[in-house]
Amino acid sequence: MLLQEMVAPGISTLELDRAAEDYCKRKKANPAFKGYRGFPGSLCTSINEEVVHGIPSRKRKLKKGDILSIDFGVCYKGYYGDSAITVAVDKIQKSEEDLLCVTEKSLERAIEKVVVGNRVSDISIAVQDYVEKFGYSVVRQFVGHGIGTALHEGPEIPNFHIGEHTPRLVPGMVLAIEPMVNIGTAKVKVLRDGWTVVTADGKPSAHFEHSVAVTEEGPMVLSRRQYQGKNNFSFQEN
Ligand code: MG
Ligand code: MG
Repeated sequence: MLLQEMVAPGISTLELDRAAEDYCKRKKANPAFKGYRGFPGSLCTSINEEVVHGIPSRKRKLKKGDILSIDFGVCYKGYYGDSAITVAVDKIQKSEEDLLCVTEKSLERAIEKVVVGNRVSDISIAVQDYVEKFGYSVVRQFVGHGIGTALHEGPEIPNFHIGEHTPRLVPGMVLAIEPMVNIGTAKVKVLRDGWTVVTADGKPSAHFEHSVAVTEEGPMVLSRRQYQGKNNFSFQEN
């Protein structure tokens, strides 16, 4: 909510990063990405055709019409949480509003499948089927993951179908489910900074993520936010 309120034309991604890190430290939590395999930021900030792992920078200022993916992981009392949203910077094109809506809804479809006895593949299929219905593509090269006392644990949670032989969901597992959805090709590449992942065709991409516990009572979203923010677009399912 802090970050969503801050997002506006003219603000740099480094300012967002600093705000997140300061807040996190005030709450006695540690930013999980900072230093992870050498990543320099506390947030991943990925704009427009950037899919994930964008590096916060003083030079990178948000512009009206951008879409910004904010990914944040923290460690609190030995346990990790990981969550992402994509937000509009001021007014964006309708095509990008739709991309954001579909990606977020695909995550909700996936969460509904977090039921004891289901398989990881049920989550993957839920994302892929929903997204492809709208002509979008899901990124193959990066996937969701288990999460707990480490940021990235097994099992992998692909956003596309890899066959039925995937782990069964059992109570106590926590899954970071994170659809990465592109308007154009599913193909991505990594920029020379060694981190920033961009779409191969330069078309926009969106990313939403929640950390979800598997319980006997159904999915428990650990990263649910009260704040709905500014992403209140009108979206027609058909
Ligand atoms: Mg994340
Ligand atoms: Mg993650």
